[in-house]
Amino acid sequence: MSHVFPRQIHAPPPVATGGAGCYLFDAAGRRYFDGSGGAAVSCLGHGDPEIVAAVQDQASRLAYAHTGFFTSEPAEALADLLIAHAPGDLDRVYFVSGGSEAVEAALKLARQYHVERGAPERRHVIARRQSYHGNTLGALAAGGNAWRRAPFEPMLPAMRHVAPCYAYAEKPPGETDEAYGQRLAQELEDEILALGPESVIAFVAEPVVGATLGAVPAVPGYFRRIREICDRYGVLLILDEVMCGMGRTGHLFACEAEGVAPDILCIAKGLGAGYQPVGAMLCSRAIYDTLAAGSGAFQHGHTYIGHPVACAAGLAVMRAVLERGLLAQVQARGALLRELLQDRFGAHPHIGDIRGRGLFLGLEFVADRETRTPFARAEAVAPRLKAAAFEAGLICYPMQGTRDGQSGDHVLLAPPFIMQPAEAEELADRLARAI
Ligand code: PMP
Repeated sequence: MSHVFPRQIHAPPPVATGGAGCYLFDAAGRRYFDGSGGAAVSCLGHGDPEIVAAVQDQASRLAYAHTGFFTSEPAEALADLLIAHAPGDLDRVYFVSGGSEAVEAALKLARQYHVERGAPERRHVIARRQSYHGNTLGALAAGGNAWRRAPFEPMLPAMRHVAPCYAYAEKPPGETDEAYGQRLAQELEDEILALGPESVIAFVAEPVVGATLGAVPAVPGYFRRIREICDRYGVLLILDEVMCGMGRTGHLFACEAEGVAPDILCIAKGLGAGYQPVGAMLCSRAIYDTLAAGSGAFQHGHTYIGHPVACAAGLAVMRAVLERGLLAQVQARGALLRELLQDRFGAHPHIGDIRGRGLFLGLEFVADRETRTPFARAEAVAPRLKAAAFEAGLICYPMQGTRDGQSGDHVLLAPPFIMQPAEAEELADRLARAI
């Protein structure tokens, strides 16, 4: 009898006992191909000796020192490395334990920044429909799936949601990508104007939408237009790269491909690569300086922020990504996996789109390829695929989208960056079996 509270109360999962490279093992001796790195977490695979050694070494030297009193060497070194590679003028790093905490911190920092610069009337945050930004109350309120929020209503009242970026099944046939992107961005400007430009704190978005839509990059020009709109009205741009950041798309930060830099950037998952729970919020010098000149403190914090062992893991992972040439490898293996998926599923009557960047790929399921009609909710593929894939020894990340009657029935693939070409074939074969 297990006393662990499982995610699915009536279907407790098998006991995971080990991992090596792209594979996980359970107590019954079964082997699974980790085709999604859990939830886009295990970018270096399992059992990487260098990361394990870095964690062990830090734990033996200094496991914990409260950030109310100390900083630590690994936290300082990781912050330096992140800032050396960060886009725009991101200048300070606030370490947390995961993605929701990073988003929560971003929302609170954005609010406090406006208060301290003398604009306390700014109180609305705008995010996108069909988005996911985490499960803590603030991050959940920002997320754009009504069914996730429903059990916890009323949520924070000042959240608004505008159109998501490109989803295959929702782009009208005949409209160019560019025109579509401009039209979606225009919704943000209209919402800001409707609320009153002086009342908006920030706009939050994922550069490449992960869990809710399945590796959907924005259409070209969308984010540049978003950046212009935010600048015009003094609205902070918060980019959530919890899933798509840290090399997953073949760029260290996904926003590099869009040619924009945010005011606040959230990362997690691939930062600790599963070896430690660690996330971070990076903010611009202007935001930091405003607090430094004002109250002198960010009114936020958790006991485990800046944890030395977590930061040591993040540092070792980030060095590995940069020094082992893994960004180029993500691009090459991503292109290969995409080709393999295209070969197997390019003409499948119920696969409407194969998309993504780097090793962050999604397949969208549709009832009808021609009309792009999604499956009815009761017939959605994702929930059935999850079970079939697990049976076929494959861990992938199927999601039914919004459950709000819109599109988003898909499977997300996010295998480890170290995946070999033969393993990419194995992943595609196992997925084909499951589908
Ligand atoms: N933002 C995004 C884009 C995510 O994908 C996730 C996790 N799926 C989160 C935030 C929340 O991260 P965590 O589960 O680590 O709290």
